[in-house]
Amino acid sequence: MNTILYNDSFLAREQGKVDMEDRGYQFGDGIYEALRVYNGKMFLLDLHMKRLERSARELRLSLPYDTDHLVENLDKLIRDNQMDYGYIYFQITRGAIARKHRFPLEKIDCVLTGSIEATTKDEDLYPDGIKVSLLDDIRWLRCDIKTLNLLGNVLANQEAFEKGSADAILHRDGVVTEGTTCNAFMVKDGILITHPADHFILNGITRIFVLQLAERLGIPVEERTYTTDELLHADEVFLTSTGERVAPVIQIDEQLIGNGVPGPISKRLLDAFNGEVERFISDTQA
Ligand code: PMP
Repeated sequence: MNTILYNDSFLAREQGKVDMEDRGYQFGDGIYEALRVYNGKMFLLDLHMKRLERSARELRLSLPYDTDHLVENLDKLIRDNQMDYGYIYFQITRGAIARKHRFPLEKIDCVLTGSIEATTKDEDLYPDGIKVSLLDDIRWLRCDIKTLNLLGNVLANQEAFEKGSADAILHRDGVVTEGTTCNAFMVKDGILITHPADHFILNGITRIFVLQLAERLGIPVEERTYTTDELLHADEVFLTSTGERVAPVIQIDEQLIGNGVPGPISKRLLDAFNGEVERFISDTQA
């Protein structure tokens, strides 16, 4: 049976019903997180919970209960579904009220739902590299909030797929921001370069972790904006996300990146990342 979390209850998937006036359904008015589960335990949990609390504050949305209780419920959801490896996804909408753009400032009953997707341990990894497309970033100016409203990402991701690409790297007037589901990094002359964590990008948990790994490995980092021209002439490009960890980009549209194979810094970071996952798994077994 596939069990879901619905507010503070655990239900069979078919029993989870959403009110048609739910603001998540009407406006995409809500927030979410997606975490990777290894050996039945959530990876990088604290960082995800901190980001959730920040997203809630930025949207003036109050969580239905505190994050400690939420973590207990998420752990139970994983156990009830007997999932060892996969993803856990949860979202919180502002709840159901008669449709109006403005929302009451008194507490309304948010709606929290959570579900799991079982995978194999290393699913979604692309160590041999991927091809991506370069597309306009048409999203709003608060990409730092992890909201349900993802239409700009959805349309670009679809366009990339129709072009035979695994994802798109987005740019605003020639300044590279991020991918549709991931953060983007480039390497030039041994320096790792990525867009600063401001309102133009989501500060990915994997991005934060990879920056820590780079520091540990002594790889110099610059968090600065860079242009599509710099990107296309980079020595290496890679994407980071909860699913992909570090995905080397070997081609952008018709242009090969570097020699068209994953570069040494991307590989070092992916290896270091995989090592951390293995360590996490063995720690959870102890
Ligand atoms: N940027 C965007 C637009 C995303 O949707 C995601 C994945 N949710 C990321 C970056 C990567 O974030 P994370 O590393 O936390 O998965």
